[in-house]
Amino acid sequence: MTRGDVIARDCWSNDIIRLRFDDGIITERERAPGAETGNWWIAPGLIDLQVNGFLGIDFQSDVIDRGQLERAVNGLHQAGCSRFMLTLVTEQWPRLIERLTTLRRICATSPLLNHAVIGWHIEGPFLSSKPGFYGAHDPDCFADPTPVHIRQLRAATGKDRVILTLAPERAGAIEAVRLAVSMGIKVFLGHTDASAETLAEAIRAGATAFTHVGNGCPPLWDRHDNITWRVLDQSDLVVTVIPDRIHVAPPLFRIIHRVKQTRSIVYISDAMAAAGMPPGRYKLREIEIDVGTDGVVRMPGTSQYAGSSLCPIAGVSRAAQMLGCPWQSAWANYSLGPAELMALPIDLTPGMPADFCLIKTSEDGRIDGYRSFVGGKEYAPLAIT
Ligand SMILES: [Zn+2]
Repeated sequence: MTRGDVIARDCWSNDIIRLRFDDGIITERERAPGAETGNWWIAPGLIDLQVNGFLGIDFQSDVIDRGQLERAVNGLHQAGCSRFMLTLVTEQWPRLIERLTTLRRICATSPLLNHAVIGWHIEGPFLSSKPGFYGAHDPDCFADPTPVHIRQLRAATGKDRVILTLAPERAGAIEAVRLAVSMGIKVFLGHTDASAETLAEAIRAGATAFTHVGNGCPPLWDRHDNITWRVLDQSDLVVTVIPDRIHVAPPLFRIIHRVKQTRSIVYISDAMAAAGMPPGRYKLREIEIDVGTDGVVRMPGTSQYAGSSLCPIAGVSRAAQMLGCPWQSAWANYSLGPAELMALPIDLTPGMPADFCLIKTSEDGRIDGYRSFVGGKEYAPLAIT
C-alpha cells in the first residue's frame, strides 16, 4: 500500500499544488496557494521510448529473468523514468519474436513490469545494409519486411503498443508501413539512407517519427545531401533525439530545436546495460561494448557508438544546458511529447497513476536534486546518473 501526499509547484503552470495518492493512484489534487514548497517542483515521470537495457541488464539476453528485469526497471524509476518502451534490436527474426514473447510473458507476471513497460520498440532487422548506417546492428540478420513479418509481430504483441523502426528504402517497406499502421503499430524510420522521395512516401504511408536523428549514419558524408538534412526538411516527421551531448553535438541539437516544433521533438535515452553503471565492459546482444570514463558507449577498438549510457533525468539537465532553456521545457520533450505520440495519458489528476518526480532547483533554476515516485512508491535517486 502506498499512501501519501506531497506539496510542490506544478512545473508548467507554476501553481502550488497538493497531491494526495493512495494505493498507487492519485486521489486528490488541489491548489495550495501560500504553502511552503522549499524550491520543490512536481512533474510527471519521464517516458522513454527506447531503452535496450539498464543497470547492467541487457534486455537482449536470452536468459533474462523476472528478477533481472525488475532490477533494471527499479533503476529506471530511480533515474526519474516511470514508464518506457522496452527495445529489442536486430536479430534473426524467429529469435527476435521468441525473445519478445518471453519478455511479454515475464512482464505479465509482475505488477512492477506490467506498469512500467508500456510496449515494445523493435529496432530492426529491416534496416539499411549500407556501411555506417547500421551502427551496432548485425547486418547478417537484416531482411526486407514482408506482410508475414508484420502479422507475426502483431500476433506476438496482442494489443500492446509497438514501435517498429525500419529503413523505408528496403524492398517492400512502404507496403509494410501501410500494413503495420493499419494494425496499430507505430512506424518510425531510422538507420536509413532513404531519399527525400522515399521518406515522403513512407510518411504518406503512415510513418510518424524518425529514430535518433543525427545517429545511425556515417561520421563523414555529403555536405549537400545527407539523411539528417533530408529528415529535418520533412516538417511532418517527429524526431527522437538522444540529449546526452554526445550523440548529437550541442550546435546540431540547438538547430533541431529551431527547425522542428517543440512537440515534434521527443527525447530518448537509447540506454543499454551500462546506463546507471560505472565505466567498463558490457553486453549488447552478443557484442561486447566498452563504456569509457567519458560515458561514451563504443564498439571495442572503434569510435563507433553503440547505444548510450544516459540516465533519463540526466538527459533533461543536459538538454536544458545545451539549449540554455528552463529544465521544465526540456522535461516536456521527455514526458508530454512521448506520451502524446504513444497516446498515453500522464496528467497528474485524480484517477491517474501516482507517477511523478519532485524536482529541487538551485538559486539559478537548475535541477539540484530529485525524488522519484512510481505508483506512489518512492525510489531513491541513482548513485550514478
Ligand atoms: Zn539505433
